[in-house]
Amino acid sequence: MALVTGGGTGIGRGIANSLARAGADVVIASRKPENLEAAKRELAQHGTRIRTLPTNVREAETVRHTVEAVVADLGRLDILVNNAAGNFYAPSATLSENAWKAVVETDLNGTFFTSQAVYPVMKQQRGGRIISISMTLHYRGWPMMAHATAAKAGIDALTRTLALEWASDGIRVNAIAPGPIPTEGVRKAFTPTPGAPDIFTEEHARDTIPAGRWGDPNDIGEMVTYLASPAGDWITGAIFVVDGGSWLKGP
Ligand code: NAP
Repeated sequence: MALVTGGGTGIGRGIANSLARAGADVVIASRKPENLEAAKRELAQHGTRIRTLPTNVREAETVRHTVEAVVADLGRLDILVNNAAGNFYAPSATLSENAWKAVVETDLNGTFFTSQAVYPVMKQQRGGRIISISMTLHYRGWPMMAHATAAKAGIDALTRTLALEWASDGIRVNAIAPGPIPTEGVRKAFTPTPGAPDIFTEEHARDTIPAGRWGDPNDIGEMVTYLASPAGDWITGAIFVVDGGSWLKGP
């Protein structure tokens, strides 16, 4: 039984699809019911139980209620995927307090609050898997993304720390750092001006990504599914780059 935050769109939806295809019951949680309902119809094809729960991961109390609702409905919670996030390009010199908080609270606080909320359930079950979605842009630094790069670096640190704290409870905590995947969210962040030329062409991918193509949500979904499988039992505190070689090559 898996909970995927931000599971209604983009990479989160790909993750939810991979997990359901592998036989998991899946709860997708995010703010907008319209995102969740559209994804639920797609996920139904796999034949497992699919639920939606409107949730704002920035609110610790709301997240606790979401986890309680999942367990009350489906009886257990084996896999948490912290995927919900937001970002946009903005110069650090003029980034407002609210803009900084919006990203850091969603990405970093949301990951912590949700992990903390599932801990007692997984501890009582004597095991579980927590997989957080990070990024690679903070490995070198990425101008105009101070909020997101700082938050994702925090997620990497949290991954290693929680892995150590919770290992003896049978809980494995890992992260995945995706490379460029042209989801709607990323298209919006990277090409903010309407009518600007599309940078997500196949030709651009061939020129810039060693593996020669853009990533697909399924690439991340399959990695999550592997980490959530019995094969992942001896893997904890690790951050897996899944990016077709992009960050090694550099911008
Ligand atoms: P996306 O489609 O914009 O996904 C973000 C999801 O988070 C949405 O489903 C959104 O749903 C949800 N969300 C946002 N704020 C929330 C909140 N406060 N509470 C609950 N849910 C919230 O973008 P994506 O590209 O798939 O990104 C997914 C993850 O991959 C993110 O962690 C991102 O940082 C990471 N990533 C993406 C790329 C890439 O190239 N695409 C690269 C590296 C890392 P609602 O609007 O319904 O709340």
